[in-house]
Amino acid sequence: MINIVVCIKQVPMVSELPWNPKTGTLRRELAEGMMNPACAHALEAAVQIKSRQKSEITAITMGPPMAEEVLYEAIAVGADRGVLLTDNAFAAADTYATSYTLARTIEMQCPDVDLVLCGSHASDSETAQVGPQIAEELDIPAAAYVEDFEVKGRTVRMQRISDNFLEIMEMKLPGLMTIMTRSFAPRYPSLEGLADAFEQPHIKILSADDINLDPNKIGRKGSPTRIINVYSPTAEKQNVVLKGTAKKVVAQIFDKYGEKISSAIGKDLKRV
Ligand SMILES: Cc1cc2nc3c(=O)[nH]c(=O)nc-3n(C[C@H](O)[C@H](O)[C@H](O)COP(=O)(O)OP(=O)(O)OC[C@H]3O[C@@H](n4cnc5c(N)ncnc54)[C@H](O)[C@@H]3O)c2cc1C
Repeated sequence: MINIVVCIKQVPMVSELPWNPKTGTLRRELAEGMMNPACAHALEAAVQIKSRQKSEITAITMGPPMAEEVLYEAIAVGADRGVLLTDNAFAAADTYATSYTLARTIEMQCPDVDLVLCGSHASDSETAQVGPQIAEELDIPAAAYVEDFEVKGRTVRMQRISDNFLEIMEMKLPGLMTIMTRSFAPRYPSLEGLADAFEQPHIKILSADDINLDPNKIGRKGSPTRIINVYSPTAEKQNVVLKGTAKKVVAQIFDKYGEKISSAIGKDLKRV
């Protein structure tokens, strides 16, 4: 029997992300939610393990009440139960507070966890920090950006591509992996799965009071990250005519734009 936890984030549908130009923040309340794409791949990886060996899958999400939708979706494709962490006390959590909250919930709700699976990154904030930070909080080994793996007894053998090299690694369980989106293509929920998910929803809803949490480590209070500003960069266009011989034109380009070219290509042009 292998106990698997899949951490799933609900993200706003990218096509519907409106901005509040005054505050520079995303108006998430106006956007419809969806399962973060990489989390759908992590869930599929869990379901594939379950199709090969006896397993129990717990899907956990932290977010506003509407995040419960991703748990129904997870149960419809093969998760056994869902845990929704929702409370205003969790709001505005950065990755540090999110990882702390998720890790304490895993300890409490799945004390015998063997494998924690996360997406490689969230499509909205995209820090890719939460998975490895959960492992740190749980004091278990972790491997990020995993493309493929096989569980053999208490060991996972995995593959990932790093700097164009194929890495093959082994990790003892319990452990955590973050899953890339190139493999484990998510399946569509079956009608039977959807019926099960909605008829017998094994979903637990927990608030901050239900978990043994340090109030100074959750939500905004527990988040050392400060977002100073969020904005869409504007591109300025300018037409410039350079005159003279080819040699003079090139010299002018280097004079005027050398610094910008250097920073774009990551090389100091003066030293080339
Ligand atoms: C009431 C409330 C409001 C929130 N509002 C926002 C908000 O406005 N904006 C925002 O970005 N976040 C919000 N969150 C969630 C939380 O703050 C972010 O999830 C966290 O900062 C993750 O950072 P990231 O997106 O860079 O994740 P990454 O580190 O890029 O995510 C990697 C992986 O970690 C796991 N993971 C990440 N976040 C969660 C999660 N919440 N639940 C389960 N698994 C997760 C997933 O497997 C994901 O694929 C809210 C939470 C609550 C409770």
